[in-house]
Amino acid sequence: MASRAGVIGWAAGVLSTLLGALAFGAVLCLWFPAVLTTPALRDVYPMGLVRATIKWALGIAFVLGVLSVLLKRRKALGLTGAGLATLGTVLGGSQVAVAGPVARSNHVGLDWFLLDLFLLSAIFVPLEILFGRLREQPIFRPGWRTDLWHFGVSHLLVQVTVLLTMAPAALFFRWATAPELQAFVARQPYALQFVGVLVVADLTQYTVHRLFHELPWLWRFHQIHHSSRHMDWLAGSRLHLVDIVVTRGLTFVPIYVLGFAAAPTYAYLLFVSFQAVMIHANVGWRFGLLRYLLATPQYHHWHHSADVIDVNFAVHLPVIDWLFGTFHLPDGRWPATYGIRGDPVPDGYWAQLALPFRRSSAPG
Ligand SMILES: [Zn+2]
Ligand SMILES: [Zn+2]
Repeated sequence: MASRAGVIGWAAGVLSTLLGALAFGAVLCLWFPAVLTTPALRDVYPMGLVRATIKWALGIAFVLGVLSVLLKRRKALGLTGAGLATLGTVLGGSQVAVAGPVARSNHVGLDWFLLDLFLLSAIFVPLEILFGRLREQPIFRPGWRTDLWHFGVSHLLVQVTVLLTMAPAALFFRWATAPELQAFVARQPYALQFVGVLVVADLTQYTVHRLFHELPWLWRFHQIHHSSRHMDWLAGSRLHLVDIVVTRGLTFVPIYVLGFAAAPTYAYLLFVSFQAVMIHANVGWRFGLLRYLLATPQYHHWHHSADVIDVNFAVHLPVIDWLFGTFHLPDGRWPATYGIRGDPVPDGYWAQLALPFRRSSAPG
């Protein structure tokens, strides 16, 4: 049994390392904005708030790191956090000047990775601690490193994945567009268009998702997503890059062809990036009648059950599963175990990336 000082020291060390890494990464973004930041985000950053956040994060990371070193017998965590904060400060901290305008170049989305990691962990970690459906499941449960790699790579490669999501639709489906129809769709109220995008996207996602389950050569890729034995907000990131690009690329086709306006389309992208995380979270809420309208954690957790398979393919709208006979939401019950029987998928990011291409990976 760890002593109380040890537990506090551990928590301080974890927070210090997380905040130290985020702030240090943000300082790097200030130094090299052209190659480390995403142009679409660059344009909308409230820089005053960003700089204040970096300053506070560096300070808090340093203090918590020192606290952890004092309280904990093993010093590595505290030293890492305090060290990252020191390094960030030595490099100029929140004061690093950015000479504008920042050139457009090939980039990795380090800012998007840091921002999304910061926001999602700030929202979901407290929720999972307070309202966890499995309270005893630790934050750092088995496999979290693998999932953080998936989260990291898909965020850093945002330029590539966005391009591969949007380009195929315009490249291969221009013939299917009709200017009058697109003008008619784009004229509708934004709220109606948002619902339209949601329905059209989820009908496509349902179909593509089912194919990923039913065609053995596609299941090779999708089995990575199903290999998680523990559900939480980070588990949903476990997706093979081919799975991400094919699913998003095909989902974007009808949105492009029908010609929805930019604002409701972006609103949908924000919505999906949050909901896709939320439905994996270890949160025990049942959401009342809303659970029949929108996919909830309980709903998607059944999709990850190791025993009940091929149910709940929809990402947003359970009614689609209901229409096609794949709806499964028994009252108040949750799956007993998650994952794939026999555990065919190895742990580790690179092993999972390579698995579908290995001849020994038996489809099934
Ligand atoms: Zn699936
Ligand atoms: Zn999932």
